[in-house]
Amino acid sequence: MDSSNLNTSIPSEFDDEADDALLPLGEVWAYPCKLTSCPYNGRSWQLRSQFLLHLQEQDAHQAHAVTAVARRAIELEWRYSTDPNLPPRRAPHFRPRTDSEEQVWTYGIKDGAGNIINRTGTQRQMEQDLARLRNSESIGETTV
Ligand SMILES: [Zn+2]
Repeated sequence: MDSSNLNTSIPSEFDDEADDALLPLGEVWAYPCKLTSCPYNGRSWQLRSQFLLHLQEQDAHQAHAVTAVARRAIELEWRYSTDPNLPPRRAPHFRPRTDSEEQVWTYGIKDGAGNIINRTGTQRQMEQDLARLRNSESIGETTV
């Protein structure tokens, strides 16, 4: 296989905003694991880099996600765009509660230095983190 032209069409696996230009207004990408044999099946990531890292690290994905090309294909097939204010989809047996403040989940955010921080919190806490992140991005280098 000619590998010289493969890298040109695949964004960096560390680039969380690689396809953001394709998103409907106000929505974000969500990256669920749809492999039934994977222990994380049904879990959803909000950061592209973390999802791709999962494909590389989980043994269950080793057979199908060996190359960046394969991971890119999986990414494009499984991801969906979603309103960031909605709870992410959960595992098949997850039963949503009516009060969103009762729901707690793990999510990843990126700080100003580009480091990914794993957080656990309610929808309100996640929204606050996302809002903070968005503010710091639009402000850029400026500190308030
Ligand atoms: Zn998985």
